[in-house]
Amino acid sequence: KKVLLRVENLVKYFPIRAGVFKRIVAWVKAVDDITFDVYEGETVGLVGESGCGKTTAGMTLLRLYEPTSGRIIVDDEDTTYYFMPKFKARRYLKKTYVDKFKSIESNKLTGIDKKYYELYKKFGENEFYNKLLSNISEKRSEFRKTMQIVFQDPYSSLNPRIRIKTIVSEGPVLHGVIKKSEVIDKVKSALEEVGIHGDHMYRFPHQFSGGQRQRIGIARALMMNPKLIVADEAVAALDVSIRSQVINLMIDLQKKHNLTYIFISHDLSVIKYISDRVIVMYLGKIVENASKKELFDNPLHPYTKALMSAIPVPDPEFKKNRIILKGDVPSPVNPPKGCRFHPRCPVAKDICSKEEPKLTEVRPGHFVACHFPGSL
Ligand code: SF4
Repeated sequence: KKVLLRVENLVKYFPIRAGVFKRIVAWVKAVDDITFDVYEGETVGLVGESGCGKTTAGMTLLRLYEPTSGRIIVDDEDTTYYFMPKFKARRYLKKTYVDKFKSIESNKLTGIDKKYYELYKKFGENEFYNKLLSNISEKRSEFRKTMQIVFQDPYSSLNPRIRIKTIVSEGPVLHGVIKKSEVIDKVKSALEEVGIHGDHMYRFPHQFSGGQRQRIGIARALMMNPKLIVADEAVAALDVSIRSQVINLMIDLQKKHNLTYIFISHDLSVIKYISDRVIVMYLGKIVENASKKELFDNPLHPYTKALMSAIPVPDPEFKKNRIILKGDVPSPVNPPKGCRFHPRCPVAKDICSKEEPKLTEVRPGHFVACHFPGSL
């Protein structure tokens, strides 16, 4: 399968400012060096407690936040510099590619590095920058079309004073996906695709239920013909019965349009239902990444095990050993040294507070960041 999105060493820190001069006094390390791939047509579940960085990761890869560092590759193109001012973008390209090309033997380069090396070799340094920096506004617009988001709260994400027709069509018109003359037809078919009567496009958001508003949010994303949709707690605010309808709708739309999803949720049972692969985050780091089956059959990180033990079981006869973690999630301003989970980990040893465990492939396709995987 083709990699649609590659997130490499992504970091997002937010400054905390204080005093008269609003000096930076500390950093919130919301996302701290995460790397993962998303394949075309799959659903990746991003799970963790609130404050683990999953929403920040989603917003940063969509460039609703500018990354602090790292690389975001979409469809074999580096998109990291698309939203930077030109001088910064050039500096980024020099640091990420040209400096590397000068210091590493070309036969050691792989993937996008190799592809950009060919460009560099053919055109020379200046033309290399010019080529990558040309048509930057078209590139940005293409990126905005390709990557869409569906938010948690359908009410606050739809402007209450604007009719559905405008809400659903303004993005696609702005990005040239549809012409003004096509608005009525396209909005009608997008609404009908998500199970809402086309004539309802003249209504306002308050005239719809929560589930219908979420469907409208999905229709709005679909209008852009995206490849990837980030669904950020998209069903968390809905009643349980409505929740499964919306999830099933998303699964149907995925098949029909070959969509790729990143499904962000704190709810492991929702993640289990919809995902092909699951990434577990804790305090800004990825702690485990595996196919759904592998992760649920054979969880290796103590934190994943604790999360799983908290899923409610419908059968009261079947009692699980619930793993209760000590204390709360520490602050992302001063995360613990070594393994960030060590103050709460039931099986922590000396090394855990000293050395940070690296995300390592311990079984084929199963990555875990723990010095003692599977020990709980
Ligand atoms: Fe627990 Fe140590 Fe593994 Fe961290 S590295 S999860 S503290 S056993």
